[in-house]
Amino acid sequence: MKNYFNYLVNILFPEHCIICGNELCFTDIKDYPICGTCLERFKTINGSRCARCSLPLIDGVKECIRCKTTGFTFSSNYSIYSYHDWPVKEVLYMYKFGKKKVLSGFFAEKIADILNIKYAGIVAVPVPSDRKSIKKRGFDHIGEIAGLLERKHGITVKHLLKKKIRTKEQKSLEYKERIENLKGSISINNDPAYLLTGRERKLVVLFDDIFTTGATVEECSRVLKGNGVKDIVSVTVAVD
Ligand SMILES: [Zn+2]
Ligand SMILES: [Zn+2]
Repeated sequence: MKNYFNYLVNILFPEHCIICGNELCFTDIKDYPICGTCLERFKTINGSRCARCSLPLIDGVKECIRCKTTGFTFSSNYSIYSYHDWPVKEVLYMYKFGKKKVLSGFFAEKIADILNIKYAGIVAVPVPSDRKSIKKRGFDHIGEIAGLLERKHGITVKHLLKKKIRTKEQKSLEYKERIENLKGSISINNDPAYLLTGRERKLVVLFDDIFTTGATVEECSRVLKGNGVKDIVSVTVAVD
């Protein structure tokens, strides 16, 4: 019934692919406007990758220089895509800064796939955004994904972290400056609804859109560890 309804809606009001602009056909109708051909353009990181941060590496190299020289609190980050592999950056940009909230379905689907394969049954924790960024974007880009992970993909999500103050724009900062900039901005959410059980404390998986220097995941991990979480890993859409 729902499919028939979608079919009719699509005939009356055809949607277009956000990447190539072609009209979406009935078989393309998902929660997000990307056609089948464009979905195939997203290439996951398949070759060698850094065991710690997921950065693509040449064959035989196990860890990148960045991870060798940085002592991270979290065990590992797994990124699905390389940020600069077209059209990853473009689609993330449309989502975060182009008010294309509808793309949350695409990112949630991809993150859910990895959580189910690698971290089934582990509590997933969104990397928090501060109120000003949410206002500027018009929505909470990670919160949207978190909602879909819970409602549509059946993943246990706990909003264990909150971001208190707006930090400086991170873009141009190096790892050490980013860590300094983030210090004290992320704290634990004491809402009793998000209390972890003893078993859940053993490992939690953070999720976010982009892993750049690792500073944000690091700061979140420090806060979680300081609050009794034994081990932290992360899943991100892309590594830069
Ligand atoms: Zn397309
Ligand atoms: Zn690395």
